[in-house]
Amino acid sequence: MTPFQWFLSYLKKYRWYMITGLVLVVVTTVLALVSPYISGRIVDDVIQGGAYDLLLNLILALVAVTVLRSALRFTFLMLFETSSQGVLYSLREAVFKKFMKEDFDFYNRNRTGDLMSRQTGDMDAVRHFVSHVIYFSFENVLTFVMALVMIFTVNVKLAVCMLIVLPFTALITYCQSKEIKPTFEKVRRCFSSLNAFAQENISGNRVVKAFAKEDFETQKFDKENDAYRDAQIESSNVWRKYIPIFEIFSNLLTVVLMVVGGLMVIQKEMTMGQFVTVNGYLWMLNNPLRQFGWIINDAQRFFTSIEKIFSTYSVEPEIRELEVPLASERVTGTIKFENVYYYSYNDVILRDINFEVKPGQTVGIIGATGSGKSTLINLLCRFYDVTDGRITIGRVNVKNFDLHSLRGSIGIAMQDVFLFSDTIEGNIAYGNPECSFEEVEKAAKIANADDFIRKMPEGYDTIVGERGVGLSGGQRQRISLARALVKDPSILILDDTTSAIDMETESAIQSELKAVGKDRTVFIIAHRISSIMDADLILVLSNGRIVERGTHESLLAQRGYYYTVFNHQYGEFDEFRARRMEERGNRNGQK
Ligand code: ATP
Ligand code: MG
Repeated sequence: MTPFQWFLSYLKKYRWYMITGLVLVVVTTVLALVSPYISGRIVDDVIQGGAYDLLLNLILALVAVTVLRSALRFTFLMLFETSSQGVLYSLREAVFKKFMKEDFDFYNRNRTGDLMSRQTGDMDAVRHFVSHVIYFSFENVLTFVMALVMIFTVNVKLAVCMLIVLPFTALITYCQSKEIKPTFEKVRRCFSSLNAFAQENISGNRVVKAFAKEDFETQKFDKENDAYRDAQIESSNVWRKYIPIFEIFSNLLTVVLMVVGGLMVIQKEMTMGQFVTVNGYLWMLNNPLRQFGWIINDAQRFFTSIEKIFSTYSVEPEIRELEVPLASERVTGTIKFENVYYYSYNDVILRDINFEVKPGQTVGIIGATGSGKSTLINLLCRFYDVTDGRITIGRVNVKNFDLHSLRGSIGIAMQDVFLFSDTIEGNIAYGNPECSFEEVEKAAKIANADDFIRKMPEGYDTIVGERGVGLSGGQRQRISLARALVKDPSILILDDTTSAIDMETESAIQSELKAVGKDRTVFIIAHRISSIMDADLILVLSNGRIVERGTHESLLAQRGYYYTVFNHQYGEFDEFRARRMEERGNRNGQK
């Protein structure tokens, strides 16, 4: 499918609007031919022929035609405007839906600002094409052809003389189209880049400020701004070159009429009235010629934009579902990683990962930064697909599940917490919008967030996120944890979720987590031993491999990486550990 065919598939829904609109364009154009005809009759019959009683009728006809034309014009303008808004609405929706379907890789490769440009500037070029360019180009071509036909009916010889401009017009049209297209591509590229730059600097403004880089960023912005302005000027230079040529052609027609037509009137080959009529039609030849340059401009702007939108739209996500995926209310069962490898651009990120977790168990994952911890759980959630090996849940390959079922059963508190510009309640309920306030509150209590939320100016109704009040890193993490919990997931993933939370609070959260969701499999990724020491299985990752595995005690006994980390953290941890050990001893004693 070409970008244009794709666009037509959206326009199809409005075909009757478009066809009716185009028919009305034909009618108004035909009506436009009537005025010069009546003017000619006034000169020949009334002024020169003395038939004064005809004058009133002719004037009334002239007024009636003008009123009718205006009414029809209004109607077709409305039809095209309505179609353009309709097409734009569906197109924007389709592109947004596709954005929602795209995978992590797509968002890694595309800048937010670029994607925003697809939905804004490029869409506007499409709207302009449907609401204006289609009818306007049709109207102009039609006016030109009809006026020429009418001149033929008045005087063939004069009409043939006027045809002289046509081959040149065609040639210039072709040259302008070819030359202007690349300049529009550059304009769109620069616009996207400018947008992306502005977007990054606005959302990353705190970093800019922290490093006092305002001037530096402003200079960089000026460069982007210059590039965009230069691209626009380059594009205008093209039309500035061509538009006068069309202007010359249109004036040339006036010269042809004056010289050839004048001579013919003198030689009595044509009446004065016919000369006036042709002069009336002349405007209908001139004007389209003048507009051609603009039409080509707008049309090429549209083609560039629709190509850009389509090229973004047609990227297929690499994470695909089976034709008949396995849908399940709740994906549960033993999670098994079997010989899992993951490569990204030929870099081996994970290699030979094998482990198994039963429902209800907790897995702790620890390892140096960049060792592949987040990637491991990204594979489980199918944000990326394994390159080799397989991951199963309850003996079913994760690739066989319907993505909604799979991800709907996983509650994840991601490493980079993102909160929407919404109330705290809205943010927590995000994964389960139908849940009651009590459920939100319960999740917040487990995440140890209820206390601080209640102290906020408007409690659960406080707006957070981009437009909202400031939250500390640990508060954000706890809201994100509550958001993961409110889904009551069968698999809970905490990716560095407690890194900004003090040990006491973390310990309280973990006890709460243990108390609820007995059959829930929990993955805890952490750098702090205290976060994972209670896990049933602890995996130590290094350079994408599991280098050590076992329980806290067995890993300490191995005296490897885990033991070293433990000793490093020992100082700050000592007191806390002693207390926890005591608690664990008491618990074991109770059992
Ligand atoms: P941290 O403790 O800092 O969160 P991590 O163990 O979670 O680290 P990962 O995020 O899993 O580390 O990254 C593992 C490796 O994979 C890193 O070397 C990183 O550069 C690389 N990596 C992560 N995401 C991608 C990606 N989208 N494309 C290419 N490489 C990636
Ligand atoms: Mg990580």
